[in-house]
Amino acid sequence: MRAEGMRRGNASAVLRAVLADGPLSRADIVRRTGLSAPSVTKLTAVLMDAGLLSEQAPLEATQGRPRVPVRIAPRGPVALGVHIGLLRTTLGLVALDGTVISQYVLDHDGDLDPRRIAEQAVDGAREFVAARLGARTLLGTGISLGGWVDGEMGTVVEHSALGWTDVRLLDLLDGRLPGPVVLDQNVRAAARAELWFGAGREADDFVYIFFGNILGAAVVVDRSVHRGPGAAAGGIEHLPVSGVEGTPCACCGAACLSAVASDAVLVERARERGILAAADEHLPLERLIAAARPAGTGSGDLRAQDLLRTRARHAGRAVATVADLLNPSRVVLAGGIVAAEEYLTDLRAEVTDRVHRGWSADERIVPSTFGSGTLVVASAMPLLEGVYQDPIAALGLDGKAEAS
Ligand SMILES: [Zn+2]
Repeated sequence: MRAEGMRRGNASAVLRAVLADGPLSRADIVRRTGLSAPSVTKLTAVLMDAGLLSEQAPLEATQGRPRVPVRIAPRGPVALGVHIGLLRTTLGLVALDGTVISQYVLDHDGDLDPRRIAEQAVDGAREFVAARLGARTLLGTGISLGGWVDGEMGTVVEHSALGWTDVRLLDLLDGRLPGPVVLDQNVRAAARAELWFGAGREADDFVYIFFGNILGAAVVVDRSVHRGPGAAAGGIEHLPVSGVEGTPCACCGAACLSAVASDAVLVERARERGILAAADEHLPLERLIAAARPAGTGSGDLRAQDLLRTRARHAGRAVATVADLLNPSRVVLAGGIVAAEEYLTDLRAEVTDRVHRGWSADERIVPSTFGSGTLVVASAMPLLEGVYQDPIAALGLDGKAEAS
């Protein structure tokens, strides 16, 4: 059993070395992993047979045989990521290197009943996979959503934007999605995606903060995402906010971060002020951002600019609190806040005005690596991670890796 465990660890080490620094020749892999050359040759062959690695065109030999670099196979296995948001469910096929190969959106049309949304996801996934998977291997389905999610229990404990409490989501889906099916909280899952494919390449500690229709944070220390008892960590939505007029939060009754800094509130304010029409239901945030942007000879809607700037400033105050408390190497921002990237300057300025310990907002605040693909990559993450941590088990290669 011990030898088997070692083989699995070694296969993982090879795959991870190629992910981190590939394409790599076998000699490079030997140097990076400390494994023997015969072992690397054997494991590389196993991983190529399984479709996880592929060879690139040989490089010119400086001496002896040409070096043939291997990389993460571009046509390798994929995971189905399903993200359930406030307005829509997004499906995506995500490759082993975190690229979104294809994405598909199901609008909720205002009906947020959990059973209805589960049915819609099941039907949508069936059609989407049939149309887009092709000859690839499907690793399984990862589902993620915001709020308080206990993935191990398969339960959405609380999602105030959707109005869900104690929804046993995996039971509702009841084995009707391509398996294995795993549930995770999307902000923590997105932080793990950054660990593998993004900010984690440069930093072992960071805080990932999502300002979208939901608000949430994930704290990464020593390359591990903190969950805490009941997986309840990361709630920033009700952080108190001072000096704000307007409607208090529906949940906590106070002026809190979610009452000033979520995409949903931004859209609501834009409707109240006549910047968006009530009928502008499709992609309202994107419409608001477009209204604010200068176009042609016009300077853009000043009211829209003011809303976006004010949201960025409020978000900046929250980031400043996090920066002073944790001194993270990076703060990775995601959600609607990065769609209006021109306002990140205001956000950084607010952080700089408020931090007390010299934390450098200009250097350390970075947008998420995945742009609009963030949510489906996060959803697929547990399955992709499973492959990197133990490719032999994840792809059922047990017999093939012997004697390596
Ligand atoms: Zn609140």
